[in-house]
Amino acid sequence: MPDRGDFDRGGVTAAGTVRVRFAPSPTGYFHVGGARTALHNWLFARRAGGQFILRIEDTDRERSHPDWTEGILSALEWLGINWDEGPYLQSERRGLYEDAARRLYESGHAYACDCTRAAVDERTRANKTPGYDGCCRERGLTPGPGRVLRFRVPDEGVTLVRDIVRGNVEFANSTIEDFVLVKSNGDPLFVLAVVVDDMAMEITHVIRAEEHLPTTPKAVMVWQALGGAPLPVFAHLPVLVNERRQKLSKRRDRVAVEDYRDQGYLPEAMRNYLALLGWGPPDQREFLTVEEMIGEFRLEDVNVSPAFFDEKRLAHFNGVYIRALGVEDFVGRVRRFLADTTVPWPADSYDEGQVVRLAPLIQERVATLGEVVGYLEFLFDEPFVVDPPSFDKVVRRDGGAKGILEEAGELFGKDPWTAEALRISLTTIAGHAERKLSKAQAPVRVATMGSSVGLPLFESLEVLGRERTLSRIDGALAELLAPQATDR
Ligand code: GLU
Repeated sequence: MPDRGDFDRGGVTAAGTVRVRFAPSPTGYFHVGGARTALHNWLFARRAGGQFILRIEDTDRERSHPDWTEGILSALEWLGINWDEGPYLQSERRGLYEDAARRLYESGHAYACDCTRAAVDERTRANKTPGYDGCCRERGLTPGPGRVLRFRVPDEGVTLVRDIVRGNVEFANSTIEDFVLVKSNGDPLFVLAVVVDDMAMEITHVIRAEEHLPTTPKAVMVWQALGGAPLPVFAHLPVLVNERRQKLSKRRDRVAVEDYRDQGYLPEAMRNYLALLGWGPPDQREFLTVEEMIGEFRLEDVNVSPAFFDEKRLAHFNGVYIRALGVEDFVGRVRRFLADTTVPWPADSYDEGQVVRLAPLIQERVATLGEVVGYLEFLFDEPFVVDPPSFDKVVRRDGGAKGILEEAGELFGKDPWTAEALRISLTTIAGHAERKLSKAQAPVRVATMGSSVGLPLFESLEVLGRERTLSRIDGALAELLAPQATDR
């Protein structure tokens, strides 16, 4: 058991309130890891009746862009993660960082340095511990353009990070270089801005990704040097990895929350799955409502070991959530996929009443809302086109197909138009053809629905209607009689 330390004293403001923050950098698509961090912060705050603050860390002017901020806000809203304060923009708070930098310089905790990177590299190449060598520590330079501001790290002793997930983690100060707080162009660095804001916003718990753990002792030093506020409690959430146990990467893995939304993942499925990345309720239950998650989320139950972001499992979750939707809800949610500009059918052929009739059958089969389009092409796509390889394989090369289609054309013309009557007719036809019903269905399916996979045949034809079904059967028979290009 790691030593989890004594957290009772830390972690609440003077007013006794829990305050957490989610602090993304708007430098790209919203990463699933960021969404998991946001969610764990949010669950923690909601359980404690505390506040969840949103802070956009856009101090890196070259890499940040307002479009990415917009993407983060809309993805958070989509996931149902609402914030109580903010969004604060670090780019609008520069004066606070400058003021803190001045105080650190004046109190002797920081000093100006004009060493170039090349000079530092040259001097320290042979050193055992890499990093800055403290050359400017005692030079007494005044801060200004062309000079960075460095934190004076004590040579000895240790810095303790109290972490709810990892217990107490100690860092020997001798392994930490005099790190930069302000760049030579005057821009504050991440470690300074984060601490200044966490203090100003009275953050009680810093819950963030494990990759920030190495900068945490630096944050603790800056925090203590600035004085005043009690240190927050830390909780570093485990890294997310892919099936090869590699850290998830933008280049290699599908990590953008926006992509999942656009493919038709349901926000509640995504939220449920994200919550389980590194956390789970003690009884290992997998499907939890948001109220249950809020009721049961504890940082003490977060794991240290990497969490596997399993896209297949996420798809499975999504399928389960899709099946649980009422028909009306499902049809409402899938509308934007069926009536958007990318669908393969003409805009005016979409008929929602027909979708309603087939909805339960579709819900059984799809893992994402985006997949629904493929299941409905047979219904809305006009003029109807049969997939040529399927036609060749299932109709042309099946000696009995012609007879089955001719008889189907006849019987389907007389039947009452219900799935059950169609099934009875085709069972009769299968009997005449001396084959199983499924084998007799194959050419009829390809002729009327265009492909050998899809929704159940009879229910689909019932919705397609008699007229269109018969005309497709006629079309297939005509196609069978037409000489093939190779025969001519
Ligand atoms: N801005 C940092 C990031 O996007 C988070 C910093 C923090 O949570 O302390 O990774």
